[in-house]
Order: sequence, then C-alpha cells, then structure tokens
Amino acid sequence: MTGPLDVVIVGGGTAGWMSAAGLVGVLKPDQCRVRLVESDEIGTVGVGEATLPQMREFNDLIGIVESDMMRKTNATFKIGIEFRDWGFKGSNYVHPFGAHGKAMGGVAFHHQWVRAGQQSRVADIGEYSYAIEACRKNRFDFPVDDPEAINSTYNYAYHFDASLYARYLRGWCEARGLTRIEGKVNDVALDPQSGDVASITLESGERITADLFIDCSGFRGLIIGQALNVPFEDWTRWLPCDRALAVPTERSEDFAPYTRSTALEAGWQWRIPLQHRTGNGYVYSSAFISDDEAMTRLLGNLDGKPLAEPRPIRFKSGRRTASWTKNCIAIGLASGFLEPLESTSIYLTQVAILNLLKLFPRSRIDPALAERFNRVVDNEYDRVRDFLILHYHATSRTDSELWRHCREMDIPDTLRDRMALFEHRGHIAQYRDGLFSPPSWLSVFVGQGMRPTGYHPMADNLPLETVTAGLEAIRRRVSERVEAMPMHDAFVRDYCAAA
Ligand code: FAD
Repeated sequence: MTGPLDVVIVGGGTAGWMSAAGLVGVLKPDQCRVRLVESDEIGTVGVGEATLPQMREFNDLIGIVESDMMRKTNATFKIGIEFRDWGFKGSNYVHPFGAHGKAMGGVAFHHQWVRAGQQSRVADIGEYSYAIEACRKNRFDFPVDDPEAINSTYNYAYHFDASLYARYLRGWCEARGLTRIEGKVNDVALDPQSGDVASITLESGERITADLFIDCSGFRGLIIGQALNVPFEDWTRWLPCDRALAVPTERSEDFAPYTRSTALEAGWQWRIPLQHRTGNGYVYSSAFISDDEAMTRLLGNLDGKPLAEPRPIRFKSGRRTASWTKNCIAIGLASGFLEPLESTSIYLTQVAILNLLKLFPRSRIDPALAERFNRVVDNEYDRVRDFLILHYHATSRTDSELWRHCREMDIPDTLRDRMALFEHRGHIAQYRDGLFSPPSWLSVFVGQGMRPTGYHPMADNLPLETVTAGLEAIRRRVSERVEAMPMHDAFVRDYCAAA
C-alpha cells in the first residue's frame, strides 16, 4: 500500500481555497494529504465578483449549502450579462444563462426565428428568452425541473464577494482537517536530476517538501513561471485590455440579477450588484487611454457614491503553455487569465480542479496525466478566448481607436470559421463539453449585429403560419411567466439576506 499523495498548495486566493476544498471534499485522507501556504502580507488580487452557473456544480460537489454561502458572501443571483454599447453606441443586449425559445420542427429555435424574420415581422430575439426577460424586469426565481415548462429553460449563477467566498472555503477546509501555513515563500528548489519541484522554503526558514505542488500564487506564478520557466502565451494582440480600475460604490436599492458591461472608448465598465455594495470597474487598454483619463472616465460614470479609492490592477490575457509541468500544477491566475468580460476566471479554475480530481495520480506522477490535463485546460482557454474576441471584433463602432483596431484586427481561424458558419446558415457548432454552448454564441452573434443570410433547410418543414404562431405563443408565455416571478431583491431578502 502506498501512503497518501502529499499535496502543497501555494496561495490562498479564490483559486487556492477552491483547490483545497475540491481535494479535501472529494478525496479521502489516505489518498491525499493537503497543506496550504499563504501570505497575509502579500494578499490576494481581491476582485472576481461574478460567476457562471457551473459554479453551482462545484459547490454541490463539496456539499456547500447555497443559502448559507450566499448569506456569508453577500451574494445576489445572476442570470445573464447585459452588454451596452457593444454592437454600436446605443445598442443593448443580454447574454442569458439559458435558451432562446424552444426547438420547433426539429431545428434549433433561431433557425425558425431567422426564417420568420426574413418574411414577416418577428420580435427581438431577447423576447423569446426567459432569462433575458427576467433580467429586463429585475426578477428572480429558481428554474423548475419540468422540461416542458418555459421556466425550466434557464440557469443561474452568483455575484458575490470573492474574498468572503475564499474565507468561507477556508473555514470549510479547516473544519475538515486541512493544515494552513501562514508564511511567505522565498525560494523554490528544483531536483537537479528530474527537474521536479523538490521543496519550497518560507521566509521563516521552514522547508516544505511534497509530491505535488499546486501553484495558486496568482499573476506572479511563483513556481510555474519563476521557478519552472513555463512560458506565458500572450494574447494581447486579440484582447488588448491590460489594466483595470476597481471601485466599490454604496449598495443599490433594487439590485439587478445580471452583470452590466458598458463599452467605453478604450475598454468597458462593469457593474456588479451585491447585497452590501456594488462592484464597479473600468477594464481598459493602456495602448488607447492613459491611467489618469481612465480614472476620470470611471469616476464620472458611477451611479452611486464610491466607498474607496479606485484600485489599479495590471494583467495580460493569455495562458501558460503547459499548466501542469513536472510535479507542479498551476491553477487560477498563475495558470492564465482571460480578461473578465464573461466572468470566466473562476470557471477556468473549477475546470482545472475537476480535471485534477479526474486525473489524480495514485503514487507517481505520470506525464500522460499531465498531457491530458493540459489538453483539456488549453482547449477551454482557447474557446473562451475566441468568444471574448467576438465581442470586440463583431462591432460596427468606429468612434475610437480601440474599436477601429478591433474591427480590423486579425482573428484566430477557429473564430473566423465559427463566424462564417453562422453568417452563412445560422449554424452554431456545439462543443462536446465546456464553454460556451450555442445559446451563448447566438446571443452575442445577434447582439453584436450579425444576422445569418440563411437557415437550416429543415426549418421549411413546418408551414410559416405555424412557426409565426409558435413564436408568438412562446413570447407570450415568457412574458406572462416572468410577470409572475418575485422581484430579485425581495427574493434575496427572503432567501439569503446577509446578517
Ligand atoms: P490571487 O487572488 O492573487 O491569490 C494569490 C495567493 O497567492 C494569495 O493568497 C497570496 O498571498 C499568495 N502568494 C503569492 N505569492 C506568495 C508567496 N511568495 N508566498 C506565499 N503566498 C504567496 N474572475 C471571475 O470569475 N469573475 C469575475 O468577475 C472576475 N473579475 C475580475 C476582474 C479583474 C479586473 C481581474 C484582474 C480579475 C477578475 N477575475 C474574475 C479573476 C479573479 O480575480 C481570479 O480568478 C481569482 O481571484 C483567483 O485568483 P487567484 O487565487 O489565482 O490569485
């Protein structure tokens, strides 16, 4: 019998504590022994307030009680992201966590919507989406299980205080026996023969060895970058935003169940309503605006009183070429970062953790496990990258240098192919797993102003009158059901009001 695999996590931000909770929650003590090193002196990046619905699967996996977690993290619900001024100034659409309408005549809903739209008048595609209508009316309720019901066609995530979530997970892990070590890592030693990480040394002089090191040290990539020299693939040429200013404002009385993203001249501004405050920030490209101008723009755009000075953050979009290298796995910002437009960072952390759990080594770390892990993680990063680029590239904005650059920039072939398929015949390929599903692509394609010239030929199998009547019935059902939902703020108050 071999003993448990000895795992040391470096870093106690969202990534570190989620990794710890995943390992402690799923593996038994005789399979894995986990210790976590973090430095209060260094602190965390301290942003990351919006999540995706997949996060619920992670919380369920480790047995977190939703209402308790929401209460302790000042959370609200999120059923989509509103994009203002992205397609053109004055435009507005929602990327919903859910479908648009329902399939009709054996083809996806949007083929019938396109077909009907070519011959008669149809409503905006958002009016057929339950999640979008709920966003528009500031309402929330849990989706029902009955697949026939229109209010089963959406999903939800959270807005929360990410530092409180990390603290919540820390308490959860420590209650299950995890050892937390406070201290600053000063040195990483590699084995001269194998090149594996042999040990880390803390400022106190304490030396810590392990079988597997998980690097959750944030942007600095203490082990993966600084010690193992794994290159970082820089995607700034496609995703030019590289800085952010984050500032909380006082709580909004009627918090919305969605994140708002407003496109500005040199980037975009976020607005995330929590129970106790509203998170705001300007994500911008330093190539197109100065820090001072960005600060003035952000402060002039707030709809509440600031509670602190705006905090500057620098970043680069891209990823490590191999997040699992030797006996080190980088998770979270140490592994890569895609600017926060679609709130995908915590999701990508979750993907890494779930894949680590799937591929967890028995005693020895086989390179085949690392190879498989890297393939899955790289794939996810690449697809999210394409989805983000679409928002910048498919725009008719020409009012500033950033937007002119993005319209004209070269894009990855994978995205070019997707856009061509959609424009030609409304086709949206479904990935076998991972982000993003066809309804998400549909919302952004259409929201950014793209329209297919054709549709699936099978759509013609139904008489047009049947289709237009079907569309109208869905639109009416969505509208009536949404009207009957509770208001989001009242729902949160009853379900999970913070103490
Ligand atoms: P960090 O939070 O930076 O934690 C690093 C940890 O490593 C800390 O505990 C630190 O003390 C420790 N550490 C570092 N060096 C040492 C050392 N030498 N010794 C000991 N310990 C050390 N994600 C989303 O999912 N949704 C969002 O809406 C979102 N918005 C974002 C907005 C912006 C502007 C940015 C920049 C990011 C956003 N993110 C978002 C990403 C999100 O912030 C991160 O995914 C998340 O916080 C995880 O960070 P992390 O744990 O990898 O790193």
